[in-house]
Amino acid sequence: MQDNLIPRTESAYDYPLLIKNLLTAPAVNNPNQTIVYRDLQRFTYAEFKQRVCRLANALTAVGVKAGDTVAVMDWDTHRYLECFYAVPMLGAVLHTVNIRLSPEQILYTIDHAEDDFILVNEEFLPLLEQIKGRIDTVKGYVLLQDDQNQPKTSLPVVGEYETLLSQAADTFAFPDFNENTRATTFYTTGTTGMPKGVYFSHRQLVLHTLAGMAALGSTARQGRLHQEDVYMPITPMFHVHAWGVPYIATALGIKQVYPGKYLPELLLRLIDTEKVTFSHCVPTILHLLMSHPLFKEIDLSNWKVLIGGAALPKTMCRAARDRGIDIYSGYGMSETCPVLTLANVADDDLNDDEELDIRCKTGRPIPLVDLRIVDEQMQDVPADGQSVGEIIVRTPWLTQGYLKDQRNSETLWRGGYLHTGDVANRDANNYIKITDRIKDVIKIGGEWISSLEVEDFLAARPEVAEAAVIGLPDPKWGEKPLALVVKKDSAEISEKELLHYIRGFVDKGLISKQIVLLKIEFVDGIEKTSVGKTDKKLLREKYQQG
Ligand code: AMP
Repeated sequence: MQDNLIPRTESAYDYPLLIKNLLTAPAVNNPNQTIVYRDLQRFTYAEFKQRVCRLANALTAVGVKAGDTVAVMDWDTHRYLECFYAVPMLGAVLHTVNIRLSPEQILYTIDHAEDDFILVNEEFLPLLEQIKGRIDTVKGYVLLQDDQNQPKTSLPVVGEYETLLSQAADTFAFPDFNENTRATTFYTTGTTGMPKGVYFSHRQLVLHTLAGMAALGSTARQGRLHQEDVYMPITPMFHVHAWGVPYIATALGIKQVYPGKYLPELLLRLIDTEKVTFSHCVPTILHLLMSHPLFKEIDLSNWKVLIGGAALPKTMCRAARDRGIDIYSGYGMSETCPVLTLANVADDDLNDDEELDIRCKTGRPIPLVDLRIVDEQMQDVPADGQSVGEIIVRTPWLTQGYLKDQRNSETLWRGGYLHTGDVANRDANNYIKITDRIKDVIKIGGEWISSLEVEDFLAARPEVAEAAVIGLPDPKWGEKPLALVVKKDSAEISEKELLHYIRGFVDKGLISKQIVLLKIEFVDGIEKTSVGKTDKKLLREKYQQG
């Protein structure tokens, strides 16, 4: 094989896949395109590029150098986008801090990532004050704020972001370096134990961007992301780089809108006034928007929404589609950068119900994704739409391990594939459908029950606002299912009626009869994780004790 290595002319340029190169085309093709921050700021791409250079100069002046780790604690802002570029382009690592974690967990991630500097929104200063004195590695803080007030803090602030930028030059010669240099890091709480750090290189982020562009841009019937779109993320930028779409949108040179802190009314107004056409979010956020009075008033017929992070319930999909929204699913996880699959409709001959089913599936692998569904011996299960197994994957953009955690890294990558812990089936057209996470599957008397399926049945009831199903240890059955149900305002339904309703699905053969062991508990609310998903880990712990 050595013989076929391409010959290199000595003076030929060996082009590295670096994040800086994502900016090359949009900066010259779309210099007047806009990047909007709430109803507060508006920049052109030409200004954006200058600001990235100013930020690089400013960070260098305060002492940031290649190899350092620079953390950001901010809402979804134009500043965050500038950090997505300037920090890795300096050869430093961008740590996107999950600001919804508890102060103790945030402290753990700052220390574990060995952050050198933190760019912090003034709103999070009180949080940092709580853990001050226990943060060992940080040399200085840069203040992020929308106005020019001077918040009181005892933290060693080295400057305010806009002031530092205004004092810095607007050009910077970003160096070339090895494309396998680490560009980003962040922490996932999707597994048991303390948060685990995942990390991605320049090469990985560039390849993820290109594959994402290809997948989103080539879908023919719906859900396309193209140059005339207006993009607004509604997935936090700390959550897997807002699913990597800010890199895609910038590389495409399209108009972008950053909404700051998620306030339903503001989000809906921005969609309306800035003519947003492409967003992505978890179902919980869409539910929040759909419950707001403004949702019924504005024109949403040009809005495409990619749902991920959790399964898209069919009832939500139908309701959104009935408002004219082009809604569909995607799938990935923190460990996978994240995008692995998209559920685009690829067939004209589907009836309404079949089309909704496709949109709610987990999707088909995007380019370069080698996705298998396997049994415990890592043998592929049949693609019959029924047989389930664990999703395992290979793509060029998967975290190569958990930061400083050899044991869990080996478990994640056992057998040379990344193990997702998600249980799914695959149909003859290669659409996969997640039926559960491995630890969320409930095993009753040796038979698996999908907690997601039971939740879907419960959520379809008009009296039910929300439902979560968990398995609790049981000496006789191994596990017994418990459904936590939040009733809609003033709705009336008893446990007996709901159990009778669920048993109806057993009679129809839609669910295993073990579900007759289901117990129902009515609750006021269901605990969520920091990214808005049902916190099954916490619920299991809570109700196990109860
Ligand atoms: P996180 O690392 O927090 O992004 O969580 C990733 C996990 O969310 C995956 O392993 C899945 O369990 C779940 N998930 C993501 N997308 C979907 C989807 N479309 N359908 C069902 N579950 C999903």
